[in-house]
Amino acid sequence: MILTLHSSTTLHEVNALAKRLTGMGLTPLVQHQDGVFQIALIKGIDDKVNLSAFAQLPHVKAVVPMHENYKLSAREVKSDRTVIQVGDCAIGGGDCVVMAGPCAIEDEAQIFQIAKAVAQAGARFLRGGAFKPRTSPYSFQGLGEQGLQLMQAAAKEYGLLSVSEVVAEKDVNLVASYIDMLQIGARNMQNFPLLQAVGKTDRPVLLKRGPSATYQELLLAAEYIMSQGNEKVILCERGIRTFEPYSRNTLDLAAVPILHELSHLPVIVDPSHGTGLRHCIAPMSLAAKACGADGLIIEVHHTPDASVTDAKQAISCEAFEDLMGRLALLD
Ligand code: PEP
Ligand code: MN
Repeated sequence: MILTLHSSTTLHEVNALAKRLTGMGLTPLVQHQDGVFQIALIKGIDDKVNLSAFAQLPHVKAVVPMHENYKLSAREVKSDRTVIQVGDCAIGGGDCVVMAGPCAIEDEAQIFQIAKAVAQAGARFLRGGAFKPRTSPYSFQGLGEQGLQLMQAAAKEYGLLSVSEVVAEKDVNLVASYIDMLQIGARNMQNFPLLQAVGKTDRPVLLKRGPSATYQELLLAAEYIMSQGNEKVILCERGIRTFEPYSRNTLDLAAVPILHELSHLPVIVDPSHGTGLRHCIAPMSLAAKACGADGLIIEVHHTPDASVTDAKQAISCEAFEDLMGRLALLD
């Protein structure tokens, strides 16, 4: 339920009302939009609640029921799009922010060479996994903390921000100590203790859609993070599993306008895992930007065929530079 207050209501009065609602066993979330205060009641309200009783509270102009389960991420709760500031970069502020780098950090020379190339081409974030969620337990699992150290050093050297995946609850603080933005991988989208753990940090979270997750399930995963106090969540469409075996996944670009309609959170697109096919990365990146994506996360490698992980979808540094030029033309 959302209480819209009269425009004359002062901050002092809003806070007093919020305190009163807390005393009633509810969880109020105060927001200020277009010069008007709103209080969203995100916990403690059940179906039997009498809406008209809330209309009698001081300063309340209107009471709007919330139909959806997503109470913190919904557009209903906050009509303005959320802009997430990471260092000097705003995600959701109108620019299509590009994050690029290898699937996995392999060694020092590799991450530094790729960081240099993607920075020169205009990427804002360096991506790279130090903890890799691999389908087979016998595949390369990532360099762990050493990888995080290399990633931090390479990002710093070339003026990039960093994003890297955390796969286990026990590693959340470790990854957060080296990396600017925490990535929750598709396979972990419904690892609820992990979502809650990143929700307790102050790091922005890049939340990838599970390979067979609905929009609602993705938004409810975002709620797990946000309800712990961390509202800096960026949604990522990375392809879903369909009956089509030719591409690795089916990139669902309709997710961009649909999630923007359902939620105020920024939405980015991963064309690399979304297709698994090198020749699809540029066309899908352009399409994603054209349909309003707030960012792209792209796998780039200096020797793509020699990538230890996800070689078939890695593009070269030269192809990335060319793509950045084409993306700029869309502006
Ligand atoms: C990745 O970004 O390297 C990754 C493993 O992605 P996803 O979780 O989308 O498969
Ligand atoms: Mn990958």
